[in-house]
Amino acid sequence: MFSKDIGIDLGTANILIHVKGKGIVLNEPAVVAMDKVNKKVLAVGQEAYMMVGRTPGNIEAIRPLKDGVIADFDVTEAMLTHFIKKIDVKGFLSKPRMLICCPTNITKVEQKAIRQAAEKSGAKEVFLEEEPKVAAIGAGLEIFQPSGNMVIDIGGGTTDVAVISMGDIVTAESIKLAGDTFDFDILQYIKKEYKLLIGVRTAEDIKINVATVYEGSRDEELSIRGRDMVNGLPRTITVHSSEIEKALQESANLITQAARTVLERTPPELSADIIDRGVILTGGGALIHGIDKLLADELKVPVFVAEEPMNAVATGTGIMLANMDKATKVN
Ligand code: ADP
Ligand code: MG
Repeated sequence: MFSKDIGIDLGTANILIHVKGKGIVLNEPAVVAMDKVNKKVLAVGQEAYMMVGRTPGNIEAIRPLKDGVIADFDVTEAMLTHFIKKIDVKGFLSKPRMLICCPTNITKVEQKAIRQAAEKSGAKEVFLEEEPKVAAIGAGLEIFQPSGNMVIDIGGGTTDVAVISMGDIVTAESIKLAGDTFDFDILQYIKKEYKLLIGVRTAEDIKINVATVYEGSRDEELSIRGRDMVNGLPRTITVHSSEIEKALQESANLITQAARTVLERTPPELSADIIDRGVILTGGGALIHGIDKLLADELKVPVFVAEEPMNAVATGTGIMLANMDKATKVN
């Protein structure tokens, strides 16, 4: 019977669900709002995201996968179950297969728990896949050929660098530094330089609209509001691209360093392929202004941002599930 297989990008910042034949049907922040006292889930996804930094004392808006590890398993399970329910898997004609991409560093026990949560939510069969591989496929790379492909996925909590050949990861590195780190760097900078406290949402706003990691390549400014650390009152300041560039320098260099480490460990034939084909960037963090130029300068190879970097993993799950079908038909 025809089954609508589904692919899930269980990211640290965003959860995306791809349904066969329909494309990406869900794209929501990986946030859960909880009542701190009775531990009840109050809201999930977009609705919970709106509450970040704005909750009263008894409510907490948390990101259960924040640093690329599962901070709170029950909450992760509740979130996954909520999203699967939302796309009405139980209403499908037959039970779907699910391909789930989770952060690279989660433990075997956590993987098992994710698998169980998916099964409970109506999966017939659950496959877990490594994120960089799926991101590469989603970005359009031909990873099953005997040639080297390099992908750098910069998410919210982790940056994953991998060289892939013949469908498998040859060398890889994962660091707990990505889009969230940039927000944090900006927040710290504003605090130190202007004695002004801002929330993470404002920091992210600055990152998207003003920031760059490539010197002299952006000239924007933005007025932002926060709370004065001295008198406690609201205050407005204007920030410029050049100052934010300096605040992000150290973190941007650590991403470059991780990429360089992977290249240094890559067999020479595959390195040669990467010089020809370049490096592809995926994940929302790849949208930070100037990262492609910075990496190209530092690694001395061409660097491209995938067409829709935030959708690469979800799109990749769709392609993988379709290929699994072909493989079963041959057998
Ligand atoms: P994950 O896979 O960990 O869920 P995503 O791939 O969804 O992460 O990327 C989320 C990160 O991308 C966040 O840190 C977010 O702030 C960042 N991001 C999204 N859009 C932009 C943009 N235009 N410029 C810079 N960063 C961005
Ligand atoms: Mg991701």
